[in-house]
Order: sequence, then C-alpha cells, then structure tokens
Amino acid sequence: MSDDCIFCSIVDGDIPARTVHETDDVLAFLDANPLAPGHALVIPKTHAERLGDLDPDLAGAVFDAVAAIAPEIEAAVDADGANVGINDGEAAGQEVPHVHVHVVPRFDGDGGAPIHAVAG
Ligand code: IMP
Repeated sequence: MSDDCIFCSIVDGDIPARTVHETDDVLAFLDANPLAPGHALVIPKTHAERLGDLDPDLAGAVFDAVAAIAPEIEAAVDADGANVGINDGEAAGQEVPHVHVHVVPRFDGDGGAPIHAVAG
C-alpha cells in the first residue's frame, strides 16, 4: 500500500471502481477513461511502481488474470480482438505509478493502432 497511490486506494475501497475480476492478489476494473468499451486495467493488489519491482509470483498472477478476463471482456462487448499492454515508466507513457495491464477491446475496422505502432 502506498498512501498517495490512486490504484492502492481502489484496492482499499476508498475510491470506487467497476470491478470485473478479483482474486487474493489481483484486481481488475474498468478504466475511468476507456479507449474502447470494456477497457479494463489489471493490477497487483500489492503496490509496485514498475514491472521490475513486481515479485515474479505476483507477475504470474497478474498475467493469469489477464489471460482469464481478456476473452471474457471481448465476449461481453462483442469485440473481435484486444490489445494487451503495459506502459512501463514515464518514458513509455505511464501516468499511474502502480503496475497495470491495459486490456483494450478491438473491433474489426475500428481504425486504432496496433501496439507495435505505438513508438513507431
Ligand atoms: P497509464 O498511462 O498506463 O498509466 O494508464 C493509466 C490509466 O488509468 C488511464 O487509462 C486512466 O484512464 C486510468 N485511470 C486513472 N485513474 C483511474 C481511476 O480512478 N479509475 C479507473 N481508471 C483510472
């Protein structure tokens, strides 16, 4: 827990969120400013700022949750695919300093960019 971390506040229930998945170690909730319907964030409940700060077991638990919910979210919003990614560090666009995996549903012909085009 980090006192001034917005995602720790969500884990603690001090800031409301629309939870889509929860385990002892991981929470997934809808992004407040979605890039697409169903855009979700998957976070470790324990505070870690960067991917490299994350305990490997917890990293595994986060990815297990991503793998479990991505197909469910796609089905829920009738998407055709999803971009799954992490902005790791300010240089990569990380705004909230608590590791989070974006699951962004994609739709055929939606005109969005693939992840490999982000830094291109
Ligand atoms: P980043 O740029 O990878 O750090 O992404 C941070 C994400 O957190 C953005 O997509 C924001 O819309 C999202 N976000 C920020 N605050 C909240 C919140 O209180 N609830 C849900 N999502 C949030």
